[in-house]
Amino acid sequence: MYQYPAVYRCAIQSPLNRLFDYLPPQGHAGPVHPGQRLWVPFGQRKMVAVVVELAQQSEFPPDKLRQAVSIIDQQPIISNSQLQLLSWAADYYHHPLGDTLFSFLPGLLRKGRAAQHLEVSPRQVGAWQLSTHGKALAKAPQNSALKRAPKQASLLAHLHQHSVVTADELKALGISRNIIRAVLEKGLIEPIATGPLPTLPTPTKRPELNSEQQNCINEVSAHFGRYACFLLHGVTGSGKTEVYLRLIDECRQRGQQALLLVPEIGLTPQIVQRFERYFQSPVLLIHSALTEIERHNTWYAAFSGSADILIGTRSAMLAPLERLGLIIVDEEHDSSFKQQEGLRYSARDLAVKRAQLAQIPIVLGSASPSLETLQNAEAGRYTLLELTRRASGLPLPKLTVSDCRELSAERGIALAILKAAERHLEQQQQVMFFLNRRGYAPTLICPQCGWIARCPACDVRLTAHRDFGQRLLCHHCDRRADWPGSCPTCHSQELHTLGAGTQRVEQVLTDYYPAVPIIRVDRDSTQRKGSLLDKLEQARSGQPCILLGTQMLAKGHHFPALSMVAILDADAALYSADFRGPERMAQTITQVAGRAGRAGRQGEVFIQSQLPEHPLVQHIITRPYIDFARHLLEERQQLALPPFARSAALFGEYKSLNELLQTMSELDQQSVRTLGTLAPNTLTRVGPVPAPMPRRANRFRAQLILYASHAKALHSYLAALRQSLDQARLPRDMRLAIDVDPIDTN
Ligand code: ADP
Ligand code: ZN
Ligand code: ZN
Repeated sequence: MYQYPAVYRCAIQSPLNRLFDYLPPQGHAGPVHPGQRLWVPFGQRKMVAVVVELAQQSEFPPDKLRQAVSIIDQQPIISNSQLQLLSWAADYYHHPLGDTLFSFLPGLLRKGRAAQHLEVSPRQVGAWQLSTHGKALAKAPQNSALKRAPKQASLLAHLHQHSVVTADELKALGISRNIIRAVLEKGLIEPIATGPLPTLPTPTKRPELNSEQQNCINEVSAHFGRYACFLLHGVTGSGKTEVYLRLIDECRQRGQQALLLVPEIGLTPQIVQRFERYFQSPVLLIHSALTEIERHNTWYAAFSGSADILIGTRSAMLAPLERLGLIIVDEEHDSSFKQQEGLRYSARDLAVKRAQLAQIPIVLGSASPSLETLQNAEAGRYTLLELTRRASGLPLPKLTVSDCRELSAERGIALAILKAAERHLEQQQQVMFFLNRRGYAPTLICPQCGWIARCPACDVRLTAHRDFGQRLLCHHCDRRADWPGSCPTCHSQELHTLGAGTQRVEQVLTDYYPAVPIIRVDRDSTQRKGSLLDKLEQARSGQPCILLGTQMLAKGHHFPALSMVAILDADAALYSADFRGPERMAQTITQVAGRAGRAGRQGEVFIQSQLPEHPLVQHIITRPYIDFARHLLEERQQLALPPFARSAALFGEYKSLNELLQTMSELDQQSVRTLGTLAPNTLTRVGPVPAPMPRRANRFRAQLILYASHAKALHSYLAALRQSLDQARLPRDMRLAIDVDPIDTN
């Protein structure tokens, strides 16, 4: 060790699992604190580094230790408490600290931009609309201030006509960036706000809380200022969101900030509007569709303390909220809270850790809680709060199973369901068909020789699509193929599609109900920007119609006129090899069924099943979710599966399966050697074996799954594995990732 007056120990965005030492920049005398960024030399390049620790010694001698180039921030942009959480996460997930830390910073901060509000430059804006001022001007063009600027005036006229215009369209019209800039500077146009709404909706009367809701609020608010974790299990439509709103209000009145995490697809404009209407002030939003500048400015608004309420998806979990007083995770069971690449963290679990470190309460809400969270409540680590009734006073929807074994593949929907839907539509209600499979059919087959259309790059079948002419599409690598005119093997002209996706169901429904509008919501039908919103708006208008869609329709929506739901392939999960299959199936059924009968009248739900007598199916429809979940917990306990065991995985991807398996096996062996002794029965290692889908986009995939009865055994092994990985000389394009608490196989 060499002694120095000051050494900055820094994190850098790199896969190297270590910190890097630097000396203060030339002529710098003032103090530097952890959480400040520096420019540092790194190899031949200049990189952004974040000071993590200050030290007075280094293992590097003076001729090896380099000076930082300059200091970027005058004060830390990552607080000590955040650094503490980040380093906890890096330890827990066995992931390099540098990558962990940088993956939570907005892109522009990673690139060294100043931590301040950035003015939006026309270059970064994808779409424009008129500002209030611009609208007024566009309505009275004759006495316009733009008389001498015909191009600016035509931009205004165009926006007036089309309300929203994308940057590409403007380019096509020959409107240059300078013109846009000029109009922007006059305050006549504004970028499309993906953030706060420009005008706030009018306030609504707050409903009087029922006793269960009041009880939840009392319990949580009694814990403001200290750590406590609550599982809020409330049946669908029981008024959970109302509870969140009141708690956030109390938090705000205490002068603190609140963070609400929602699933990827739960961030509907509906929920945002509801919050803004309630609080009569804009809320901050963080989600994946923000532009870099928007993300940066949102980060800054949180950091500078100017915002009290932040709603966001997964990555918002680490938003810089120094006055944070409350965290709420809505739909805590949702799998989008788990990041599946890079740092494979669970935003829900990290949020609980954050609440612990910050000594604040956290609420995990769901109508279908995950077994992990439920078990934490059963074991007394979390407090269970329950909303057992719908806020509207209506009973929960009635569930019926409908046998679909005898159905022809063409129709795919039981007659009883079609008849029931007709009844609901006649009564001026809306009906939803749920099928979590997009496309026309999952299989194209030759009945003569048995040939099946498969993706040349993945181990899966191609999905038949008929939206824009017939074509075949791989849902895993997005490869497209033409529809073969005849069988490539036996040249038979007669090819058949098997099974049904949303496009086929749309056709069946159109044939059956020619006069009823059908709103299809899936990834293919909502590609155009804004089309999802249009469709949801149309559905919320309350006209009788059929809503047909995938997962995108399952959560968070409130369609007042919807009185019937049909779930078409509920039992796919029964055939799944994943031990979480039944849990997922029950969650989906609970969520989808929960869309029905939220206002006006009791809902009716049909579940179409190939195995109507299967005990799981019977169990799900006859008993409340929570009973079924407790039953599944017993099974998991008997089989020593999570949450009664801890699990982790090593996932790998490479161009050669054999080499991949070989490397993974060597890493495993080496880790076991590093550990020295591996107490028998403390750790079970399954694999390495090819993943359930062994090849995707021409890359082979393999996995090693680990189960341990105690976290300690698992984490000592993982620490050894991390060390083996850090020392290994891997081919450049071999990907290996440790996943702690995986929720999926690869
Ligand atoms: P959840 O989040 O549990 O699905 P919401 O909070 O969205 O439920 O409530 C469902 C509907 O019931 C909403 O329209 C909401 O305004 C209404 N609501 C909530 N609480 C009450 C209450 N105490 N009295 C009357 N209506 C309520
Ligand atoms: Zn493919
Ligand atoms: Zn054939």
